[in-house]
Amino acid sequence: MERTFIMIKPDGVQRGLTGEIVKRLEQKGFNLVAMKMMNVSRELAEKHYDVHSDKPFFGNLVEFITSAPVVATVWEGEGVVASARKIIGATNPLTAEPGTIRGDYGISIGRNLIHGSDAVETAQREIALWFEESELTTWKPALQNWIYE
Ligand code: UDP
Repeated sequence: MERTFIMIKPDGVQRGLTGEIVKRLEQKGFNLVAMKMMNVSRELAEKHYDVHSDKPFFGNLVEFITSAPVVATVWEGEGVVASARKIIGATNPLTAEPGTIRGDYGISIGRNLIHGSDAVETAQREIALWFEESELTTWKPALQNWIYE
């Protein structure tokens, strides 16, 4: 089953949106398989965002992600990578559609509340970067047959 890495960024945690964000993904029908609240080291932040290392916003982004705790999660489900990106919304919260997390709760691109892997391969890399194999659970929800045909 496909998995994705979702991180509630420091602004999402500070604004008390952790529960709301987790609720939206749960209610869609995806399975939460790992979750931890943590402070992010500079090394982990730089590795996570290394594709952006030559962008002008990289320094501020690393500074921000390491500034206060985040909630790191892994979700499982059919098509979860692309679907979670839709639930999250566009990178810039001002242009993100209403009904998406960023569209409903954000304004600034540098305070867009949440990260979600952009492809299946990226998700595999990010899950391995943020979690030990032993932290990932495997479970079959009792409601599975009411969610999947
Ligand atoms: N970002 C920023 N300024 C920009 C573009 C991006 O601060 O001009 C930050 C923003 O937090 C974004 C992250 O860098 O979520 C990663 O950018 P990406 O284009 O990968 O967006 P995402 O996949 O998070 O939508």
